[in-house]
Amino acid sequence: MTPDTLSPERTDVAALTDFIAAHPRLFVLTGAGCSTGSGIPDYRDLDGGWKRRPPVTLQAFIGDATTRSRYWARSLVGWRRFGRARPNGTHAALARLEAEGRVEVLLTQNVDGLHQAAGSANVIDLHGRLDTVCCLACEARSPREAFQRALEALNPQWLALDALDAPDGDADLEGLDFASFRVPDCGSCGGLLKPDVVFFGENVPRERIERAEAHLAAADAMLVVGSSLMVFSGYRFARAAARAHKPIAAVNLGRTRADDLLSLKIEADCADALDRAFLTLPQRERGNSSA
Ligand SMILES: [Zn+2]
Repeated sequence: MTPDTLSPERTDVAALTDFIAAHPRLFVLTGAGCSTGSGIPDYRDLDGGWKRRPPVTLQAFIGDATTRSRYWARSLVGWRRFGRARPNGTHAALARLEAEGRVEVLLTQNVDGLHQAAGSANVIDLHGRLDTVCCLACEARSPREAFQRALEALNPQWLALDALDAPDGDADLEGLDFASFRVPDCGSCGGLLKPDVVFFGENVPRERIERAEAHLAAADAMLVVGSSLMVFSGYRFARAAARAHKPIAAVNLGRTRADDLLSLKIEADCADALDRAFLTLPQRERGNSSA
């Protein structure tokens, strides 16, 4: 990463400022690049390729007990830091955009809840939330924090382990006998428990997509922040915006899958670009916080 890609040029920032000022109802789509500044790693390199082994699929999670044990053992370690992550400047800037009445909705591909922690209220968690656990049988939902305590109680010998953080609250534990890791079942029905997130290979609930589509129809432009849009569930909204002739701007370090659909692309650190765009946003455009 060179300083050139970290800090946007003055002309880029001016173009982003103009884009925000010219489109008062933004459909904001965010991805992992928003949360790397909070210490949560992402999956993709600058070309949008995998940096690491792809995440576990729903099929593997449901089909194999050892895969589930491995997932939860790694999550036991990863959650300690993930669950304490705090919002950064990007989350704060987007919360401020909403407070000024400029955001139709914020659709996030992140599962960390950091937009809400920063004060954004109108958020759709496209891929769910990692701070909730759901039962695959009875659909009962419960807090991840309580599940963490249950995992700890059942697996005291695993508590001393540590590993580097991986994306989505995962940690790089390897080479252990995961079959010996004990995972509690649903307290109500005995069903399999799963984090309340959309796994790789799993479909986003239809109702959630339709809710986001309705907001896109009401918006006059799309702003992508910190996403390569490599996953179709996010890319589909860029395609829909393009079909509806709504301009799309993206702030992202590296390539996005929608580069050919963008009217404005800023290859820069998200927080830096948004902060600098705010500095020059016309004062008369502000103060619409009652919206
Ligand atoms: Zn259940």
